[in-house]
Amino acid sequence: MTTLKRVDVHVEGVVQGVGFRPFVHSLARRLGLAGRVHNDVDGVHIEVEGALAGVEEFLTALERDAPALSEIERVTVVSARPTGHNGFTIAAGLPSGPLRPLVRADGATCDDCLRELADPADRRHRYPFINCANCGPRFTIVRGVPYDRPLTTMAGFGMCQTCAAEYHDPGNRRHRAQPTCCPACGPRLRLRDARGTELCGDPIAGAVTLLRAGRVVAIKGLGGFHLAVPAADERAAAQLRGRKHREEQPFAVMVADLGQARRLCEIDEHATELLTGRARPIVLLPRLPGAPVAASVAPATRSLGLMLPYTALHHLLLAELAEPMVLTGGNVSGEPIAYEDDDALTRLSGIADAFLIHDRPIHVRADDSVVRPMAGEVTVLRRARGYAPEPLAMRWPAPRPVLACGAELKSTFCLAEGRRAFVSQHIGNLENHETLRSFVESIDHFCGLFGIRPEVVAHDLHPGYLSTRHAMEIHGVELLGVQHHHAHIASCLADNGDPGPVLGVALDGLGHGPDGTLWGGEFLRADLTSFERLGHLAQVPMPGGSAAVRQPWRMTAAYLGDDHPGLDVARRNPWTDALRLAPASPLTSSAARLFDAVAALLGVRDKITYAGQAVVELEQHADPAERGTYEAGITHGDLLVVEGADLVRAAAADLAAGACTRAIAGRFHNGLADAVTRACDTLRKATGLTTVALSGGMFQNALLLEATVARLRAAGFRVLKHVRVPPGDGGVSLGQAAVAAARDRA
Ligand SMILES: [Zn+2]
Ligand SMILES: [Zn+2]
Repeated sequence: MTTLKRVDVHVEGVVQGVGFRPFVHSLARRLGLAGRVHNDVDGVHIEVEGALAGVEEFLTALERDAPALSEIERVTVVSARPTGHNGFTIAAGLPSGPLRPLVRADGATCDDCLRELADPADRRHRYPFINCANCGPRFTIVRGVPYDRPLTTMAGFGMCQTCAAEYHDPGNRRHRAQPTCCPACGPRLRLRDARGTELCGDPIAGAVTLLRAGRVVAIKGLGGFHLAVPAADERAAAQLRGRKHREEQPFAVMVADLGQARRLCEIDEHATELLTGRARPIVLLPRLPGAPVAASVAPATRSLGLMLPYTALHHLLLAELAEPMVLTGGNVSGEPIAYEDDDALTRLSGIADAFLIHDRPIHVRADDSVVRPMAGEVTVLRRARGYAPEPLAMRWPAPRPVLACGAELKSTFCLAEGRRAFVSQHIGNLENHETLRSFVESIDHFCGLFGIRPEVVAHDLHPGYLSTRHAMEIHGVELLGVQHHHAHIASCLADNGDPGPVLGVALDGLGHGPDGTLWGGEFLRADLTSFERLGHLAQVPMPGGSAAVRQPWRMTAAYLGDDHPGLDVARRNPWTDALRLAPASPLTSSAARLFDAVAALLGVRDKITYAGQAVVELEQHADPAERGTYEAGITHGDLLVVEGADLVRAAAADLAAGACTRAIAGRFHNGLADAVTRACDTLRKATGLTTVALSGGMFQNALLLEATVARLRAAGFRVLKHVRVPPGDGGVSLGQAAVAAARDRA
C-alpha cells in the first residue's frame, strides 16, 4: 500500500473568475487525488491528498498548466495529516471576510471559442459574442465586485438552460464564466443607419457592403466605439480623417491574420508574439515599401500600427471583408472615444454613415493599447484594453494604500496597496472636461473594484494640472507632491524593481521644475524617496510660451536667434517678430522643444496638430542607418549643462551645405545620444553611480532609445528602461505611487 500524502495549498494572484477551480478539479481527478478546492478572501485554497508522486505532479502542474487568464503570484504549501476521504470536490466560496477577487483585463477570443465560431454544427456558430472562462470581456463589463453576473453588464441577459448548465458544470470551460451566452439568450448585433434606423438583413454582411462602398462604419467594440473604412481605400480614409478633424495622427489598421499582417509590415518572431498575445494591442511595426495602405492612413511615418481581431465580431467582419481595415477610435479628435450607445449615436452622427451596434453595455471605456518593439524588447506606449487593470507586482510594499493622480497629458492614475499597483487604463488629456469626469469616476470605480481606500494621495507639483487640483480636493488623506521628472525616474525604477540610486535621464516635453522654470531634459541622482538635479539641457526661451509648443519653428528661432543666413524655416515663418515676444517666453530645458527646433529646421514640421507630432515625425524622417553624429558641448559647474544649441547649429550648417535632411535627422539623434552618454560618464565620475534609468516621452522614440542604450552599454553602464508602463506621462502615476510608498516605508 502506498503512503498517503496530504498538502494544503494556498494560491494567490489572479486566480478567481478565470477558470482556476475547474482546472484544479480536473487536474486532481486526472491524477487520482482526493480533496477539495474553494475560493477564499485572497485566492484559492486547495486540500489535496493521494500517492506522493501524484501530489508532487499536482504541485508542478498547478503552476505549469494554470489557465491562460490566471496569474499566480504566490503558492504556499503546508503538509497536513491525510483524511482518507475519496473524491475531489469544488466547494462553495467561504463567506469569511470581504471577497476581493481581482478583476481581469479583457482577453482576446481563444482558440477553443474560434473553433466553435467556425463550426456549423456548434450552437454558437458565427455568434459574435462567444466567450468562455479563458477569454472575452472582463474589465469593461464589470460594474462592481464580487465578479458575478449581476454586477456585470450581462445582468440583463438571463442565461438559457443550456448556457446555465455549462456555467454550473465544473468540468465545462464556461464554468463560472460570467459573460457566458449564446444566440438564444445573449446580446444581439444590429446595423443602424446614421439616423439610428435599424437596417434589415445580416448586420455583418450589411456592414461589409457599406465598407466596400467606401462608407465609414462605427463599430461597437469591447472598450468603446471604433470607426472603420477599408485600409486601402484612399478616398474613404481621407474622408474619415476630414470628418474626425484628425489631420495627421496615424490610424491603426486591423488585419484578419498574420498572413495579412505580413503583406503590410515587417513581422518577426517578436512582433508575432505581440500581435497574437491575449492583450492584442496595436503594435507599431516597420511598414513594407509598397504596402497596400492608403496614403491618408498614416501620413509622414514609415511605420504602421497593426492589430489582430480580439473579439468574435472582429473575426467575422474581417473574414467577410477579406482585406485590412482602418480601426480608429470613435471620437472627434481631442475628445475621449464614445462607449455609450446614445452618446456614440450623437457624437459620431456626423462621422459615421452606419453603426454596427449591440445591446451589451460597456461599463468602462478602454482604448486600444499601443506597444512598440524597441531595443530588442517591447515598450508600452499606451496601456489600456487588454492590460488594465492587471496589477503590477511591486518589489516593496506600500505600508498605507496610495492613490497617485498622475500628470495631465496621456493621464493615468495608480492605486497601490501592499505589493500591488493598479495603474488605470489610459484616460487621456485632462484638459478636456469629459476626460476629467472619466478620470474622477474611474478612480472611484477602481477603489471599489479592488477595495482600496487611499490614505496617501500623490500628485504632480504643477498647481494648474487638473489631476493636482483633484488631489487637493480629497479630504482626510496625506498629500504628497512629487516632482514630475523624479516621478518619471521612479516609474522606471518601479517598472524594473530597482531601488536606486541611479543616474536618471528624463527627457520629455514639459514638467514643473522646483525653480519655477519648465524642465524636460534632466539628469538626476534619484532613488525612490528623493532626487537631486545634477544637470540639464541648456535652457532656452520658448517664444510665446504655449504657442511655441504648437509651432515648432519658434523653437528653431529660439535656438538659432538671428544667426540664420538663408534658412527656409525663417523664410516660411515671421521669425523676427517671434523673438520680440521675449517677455512671454518662459525658459525651458525641454528635450521635446530641442526636437521641435530641428524638425522645423529640416522642414519636417512647422506647426503641429497633435502633441508630440514633430518628435514622432523627426524620428520617422531620420535615416536609421546614419552613423554620423554631432557634438554638443558639455559644461560642468554647479550643474552639468548640455548645449543643445550646438546640435541645432550643426544641423543648420549641414543643411546650408546641402546635406540630405534624412541624414541630418539621423545625426541629430546620434548627437543627442552621444551627449547623454558623455554627460552620464561625467556624472558617474562625480557620483560613483553606474546604473542609468531612462524615462520620459522622448524614449518612445525608438531611434533615440536604441542609440542611447547602445552607447551607454558600450560605456559600461547598466541601463534600465521601461517595460510595463509607458516612458511618457502615462507612466508618471506609477512613479508617484512608488515614491509615496517608499517615503511611507522610510
Ligand atoms: Zn474562449
Ligand atoms: Zn444561451
